[in-house]
Amino acid sequence: MPEVDVRLVDVVKKFGDQVAVDHIDLEVRDGEFFSLLGPSGCGKTTTLRMIGGFEQPTSGLIELQGQDVTWLPPFKRNVNTVFQNYALFPHLSIFENVAFGLRRKGGLRAAEIKSRVTDMLRLVELPGFENRRPNQISGGQAQRVALARALINGPAVLLLDEPLGALDLKLRKQMQVELKRIQQEVGITFIYVTHDQEEAMTMSDRIAVMNKGHYEQLGDPESLYERPTTRFVAGFLGVSNLLPSTVVGREGAYANVRLGDDSRIRVPNSLVDGQEKVSIGVRPEKIRLSDPSVETPTGHNRLTGIVRDASYLGVSTQYLVESRGGNLTVYEQNVERATRAELWARGDEVQLTWSPDHSFVVRESSTDDDMRESDPGMGVPATTASA
Ligand code: ADP
Ligand code: MG
Repeated sequence: MPEVDVRLVDVVKKFGDQVAVDHIDLEVRDGEFFSLLGPSGCGKTTTLRMIGGFEQPTSGLIELQGQDVTWLPPFKRNVNTVFQNYALFPHLSIFENVAFGLRRKGGLRAAEIKSRVTDMLRLVELPGFENRRPNQISGGQAQRVALARALINGPAVLLLDEPLGALDLKLRKQMQVELKRIQQEVGITFIYVTHDQEEAMTMSDRIAVMNKGHYEQLGDPESLYERPTTRFVAGFLGVSNLLPSTVVGREGAYANVRLGDDSRIRVPNSLVDGQEKVSIGVRPEKIRLSDPSVETPTGHNRLTGIVRDASYLGVSTQYLVESRGGNLTVYEQNVERATRAELWARGDEVQLTWSPDHSFVVRESSTDDDMRESDPGMGVPATTASA
């Protein structure tokens, strides 16, 4: 088990009456790429700033590598930060921007500084840029320089607050892969703040999904996506179909549940422990559409419905299917059925089937009100779209 690098114990941050961070306990492991993911205003930056020492908690404790740093100023913490706006020194060359931290620390010979800066520029794939000025490089390159500058002193932890926010989508995706590579190469703990779920999923070992000052779920990308435990997380990471249902019995490893229209489906027993009213979730790509006359795979859940909308997206086609058990979004990869004539069309009658093991169960929480998009007419919620 890797050591804990950063520990937050019951951390609260208030600004006046406003609670920005609401009792967070967190353990980030040594060498981990850890992300705080959540919508704007949920407290990500405030949490990061407290770890960096730019903000003091109202109550609680912050430890770095076992040392209580709650009241230490930023420069006494073995932590560095990369901001979205790069904050490069415009009058200094790229070489001097990267060398800045080393020179300030002092005690190094010129040859040593040169070799460390060269190593850093190689790491971020900018060799040959030494003599340029910040206004002579692109945004993506400036972000790399900022990263090199933050890493050159070898901090134990690097904090990154939406560092790719100013880049266009293509460059951002490229930098995500780069950042992950660099993090693995240097082995330094990264704590990364973003509101972009795909970005967090691409890079992170683990993610804490934040909502209103605390996190609702913490885990690796796969378990967060496959088994979200709250309505908020299910809706924030990807698209979910959520069906309100009642547990009516148990049968071996599975529980039988009844949907609003009286149809029955099954979910793993372990997910519904003791509850009666539950919301069953299933991801759009886990559902197969077929002609209602086609035999359902053994043990699979089955609903029938009418295609209300079909959107061809290239990679996949997105269907909205109205079923009496609820409205569902379904993604079908455009593999066998790839031309418009072969796709399901509006008005088609279809059956929807999926494995009970691909279901998940979410609990409601006090913070869910603004996420709900239920359709009172049908008495069942519509798809919860991602933010
Ligand atoms: P995020 O980074 O997730 O968007 P922040 O941590 O910046 O969220 O902010 C969390 C909440 O705290 C927000 O409601 C924000 O308005 C508030 N907040 C942040 N910084 C301050 C401050 N210096 N003074 C007052 N309120 C603040
Ligand atoms: Mg922020």
